[in-house]
Amino acid sequence: MAFISQYSLFLVRYSFYLRPMEQLVKQIDNYRKEIEAAAVNTPEAVEEFRIKYLGTKGLVKSIMGEMKHVANENKKAAGQLLNEFKLFVESKYEALKEANAGLQAPDAQLIDWSLPGDPITVGTRHPLNIVRNQIVAIFKRLGFAVAEGPEIEDDWHNFGAMNLPEDHPARDMQDTFYVNQHPSWLLRTHTSSVQARVMETQKPPIRVICPGRVYRNETISARAHCFFHQVEGLYIDENVSFADLKQTLYFFVQEMFGKSVKVRFRPSYFPFTEPSAEMDISCLICGGDGCNICKHTGWVEILGSGMVHPKVLENFGIDSNKYTGFAFGMGVERITQLKYQVNDLRLYSQNDVRFLKQFTGVV
Ligand SMILES: [Zn+2]
Repeated sequence: MAFISQYSLFLVRYSFYLRPMEQLVKQIDNYRKEIEAAAVNTPEAVEEFRIKYLGTKGLVKSIMGEMKHVANENKKAAGQLLNEFKLFVESKYEALKEANAGLQAPDAQLIDWSLPGDPITVGTRHPLNIVRNQIVAIFKRLGFAVAEGPEIEDDWHNFGAMNLPEDHPARDMQDTFYVNQHPSWLLRTHTSSVQARVMETQKPPIRVICPGRVYRNETISARAHCFFHQVEGLYIDENVSFADLKQTLYFFVQEMFGKSVKVRFRPSYFPFTEPSAEMDISCLICGGDGCNICKHTGWVEILGSGMVHPKVLENFGIDSNKYTGFAFGMGVERITQLKYQVNDLRLYSQNDVRFLKQFTGVV
């Protein structure tokens, strides 16, 4: 039995395990065709390719093991054949890896598409712009057009034309920034300078409002600032009376603050209007009963007004016997302060987001 067994082993080794070269060549040729035809389109498929052909239990490793079954006289040719095949598979793998690298997009795998997006911070309109726009919108409905002019003015448009000649004591009411290089140039102290420019170029009827920034040499505090915003109005036509002035401003107050608000006019003095009046409204906080905001009077001042001084009309060649007009001016900060209870003027220009974002949603 022992002999037979040894003989059988001898047969098995030489009939089944000795690899003829032709067979090896044909087998490798088939593998090449299979590899060439392989559909490898994703990074995962590239990895599968590597495991199948180049892994530790892969085809290349296994076919290399066939060398020991090759007859001695063929070992050199078989070694060359197998090496070439190995190089072919390796270069094919590298090519596939490169071709699919663009698809790998490692970031894409790290992104969780179900996460909510980063919020985009939306800014808010500045409260002064909100209120300025509201004021402009109300007067536009009464037919007033918006006029604008330069912030650096000459003395004539800011003072002279407004019946404030040099050495006029009323100039002291408006501490002015002058431009050093041009002593007759200044930063406008009111938007009346825009009214001057309108009267210079237009003939009555004139109906404009002039919103804009103005400058005064004031010490900055909660109640005063070196710049603030005004909306001034001017209406010139035949037969314009004080009754028109009152009704126009009354309409404005009701639209701005509500129907229940009362108004009162107090006699006042401005060089460019005669007669002049300051207008108060009933306190929005206490409704007229008296509180800290209205200093216990029940009234708060909101604007100055009056009939345009005949001298101002004549300065622009407008016949003051034929035409009359009224003018008014208000501080946007003042209206905003009353509407939103902002008690420190400095907040408007500090750009503190905590302040500004309180006006989110106000249009
Ligand atoms: Zn009050």
